Amino acid sequence: MMSYKIAIIGSGPSAFYAAQEIFKSEQTIAVDMFEKLPTPYGLLRGGVAPDHQQMKTISKSYDKIASHPNFRFFGNVTVGESVSVDELTDRYHAVIIAIGAQTDRQLNIPGEDAIGSHTATEFVAWYNGHPDYQSSIFDLSKRSAVIIGQGNVAVDVTRILAKSTDELKQTDITNQAISILENSQLTDIYMIGRRGPAQAACTELELKELAHIHNVNVQVHDDLVLSENDQLEMDASSKVRKNIQQLTTIKATGALDSARKTIHLMFYLTPVEIIKNGQNIQKIRFEKNKMQGDFGHQKAVPTGEFIDLDCDILFRSIGYRGVPLNGVPFDQKSATIPNQNGQVLEDNGNPCQKLFVTGWIKRGPSGVIGTNRSDSIETVRQCLASIESTSIAIDSDVQELLELKNIRSISFHDWKIIDEYEQAEGKRVGKPREKLTNIDDVFNVLNNGVA
Ligand code: NAP
Repeated sequence: MMSYKIAIIGSGPSAFYAAQEIFKSEQTIAVDMFEKLPTPYGLLRGGVAPDHQQMKTISKSYDKIASHPNFRFFGNVTVGESVSVDELTDRYHAVIIAIGAQTDRQLNIPGEDAIGSHTATEFVAWYNGHPDYQSSIFDLSKRSAVIIGQGNVAVDVTRILAKSTDELKQTDITNQAISILENSQLTDIYMIGRRGPAQAACTELELKELAHIHNVNVQVHDDLVLSENDQLEMDASSKVRKNIQQLTTIKATGALDSARKTIHLMFYLTPVEIIKNGQNIQKIRFEKNKMQGDFGHQKAVPTGEFIDLDCDILFRSIGYRGVPLNGVPFDQKSATIPNQNGQVLEDNGNPCQKLFVTGWIKRGPSGVIGTNRSDSIETVRQCLASIESTSIAIDSDVQELLELKNIRSISFHDWKIIDEYEQAEGKRVGKPREKLTNIDDVFNVLNNGVA
């Protein structure tokens, strides 16, 4: 029987669900997974909030997939840079791209470059120990933080800024982040949406968590009066209904005198300018909105009325954005790789024979971890249907190419050594793990047993 080789680029949830689906095939298929970081799991490790440890246990099911005898992991290999996509298509029957959405959307307003204006993705990557973000500086020495956007990433950032470090110290947040958060002087954290409470992108459980942070008040600034269209949206969606119920409960809860911090939830405000004092952020100017349009498609429409809000540090949390992979078609508008059922399409609309795509770089940055499973199933089915019509055997192994290029890759066995080391280091201080945050430490542990 013919045996096949498939490469997967990326090692986040969509990559592992693709590998899982491939191994369900009756064919003999080898899967090589390439990851630019030394460690696997993508946003499960670098995006999911450290105080959501239960969620991170999903990695155990990925380890099970990785234990398949036909699975190999190549960490510390950047496809598109040190190895080209063409070099992979030469060595595999198919290549599945699962690189996620690696940057953030821009507000495109004056002052976005002010000192103190950050993206939420940078902050999240920093506190989660992503090696590329450890030199970022977040000044929490003043009083007021503003988060623009009301998705679940905005809620994560708000919660991490609001929680006491006594609570966070029991998570796998980095030591560096703890020491900065420990000295935080923030008293007011504003999470601001351009539309209304019925359109808030976050979910009820996450709002509820905000309401239960020890010694923190949550203030809903707007009246929760629903328009006819909001009411229709609420009737049509349990998510909207639950969010409104949660916001109503929060609004009715009395403020604690002993509160250390206040979270302010504000709606109907679009940021139009970041006002600087010299190079530093000072205020944000918002234009007030009203809602217009049919139910389900209500848009924020500016009213011509403005307010300024003092701001010492800003986190722009308006969504992730995909980046192109060298040698692969890319649609700038949607920041995704054009595809049909997961098969990559050339600029002229023809399918690329060996290229497939899954996850956020396929459908855009939406949905929860589990959403990637059905996405990857669709892509793998399309991929298997395509390669099963191939009868060319491929002998050359990527290992030779990596040796030729002098690339020291990290195997899954190496990762398990790192994993054990991180967990042991964490255990000494009562944390689930202490992450290694740079590649030198990773190789020191692999070579000498200590970072
Ligand atoms: P998101 O859910 O798409 O939220 C983006 C937010 O930014 C929305 O409030 C959006 O408002 C706002 N926005 C977009 N453009 C804007 C602009 N130009 N000006 C002002 N506001 C703007 O994105 P996300 O929070 O980055 O989350 C990404 C995905 O990961 C989501 O599917 C999320 O559920 C998931 N996630 C889940 C969890 C969890 O399960 N706990 C945690 C983190 C992330 P509009 O609604 O008006 O567009």
